[in-house]
Amino acid sequence: MKLTAKDKNLIEEAKRIIVKSNPVKLIGTGDVGAALITSKGNIYRGVCIGFYCGIDSCGEYQAIGAMISNGEKGIKSIVAVWFDEKTKKYRVIPPCGKCREMIKQACRKNINAEVIISGTKKVKLKELLPHSWGGTLEK
Ligand SMILES: [Zn+2]
Repeated sequence: MKLTAKDKNLIEEAKRIIVKSNPVKLIGTGDVGAALITSKGNIYRGVCIGFYCGIDSCGEYQAIGAMISNGEKGIKSIVAVWFDEKTKKYRVIPPCGKCREMIKQACRKNINAEVIISGTKKVKLKELLPHSWGGTLEK
């Protein structure tokens, strides 16, 4: 599927959260930003974090954590953007396998979430995760 103006705005949101995290200046933290729009239309963002004590997470984890902390779990669309320090360029990247499962496990309906996988293309989560674990954590 081609990207819409809203999708392109979501990419910009992911870039903005990377920039916003810049002042912390931690190694392994903040070079990937993620943004998502919920089924209710709210936007949540997060950046990747990494600590030498073994605690780390993808930007999607942080964005989804913010969403859940605000009482939502349904994702309409999601994107992650990586800032390459060497080239000083941003690049949309597909979610890792753990994040694909996390999106699905947060809410059954998220299997139809739109995942922006490049600067020009998006797919449904079910295309990235055709044989997911069958459960969710939904009560
Ligand atoms: Zn991930």
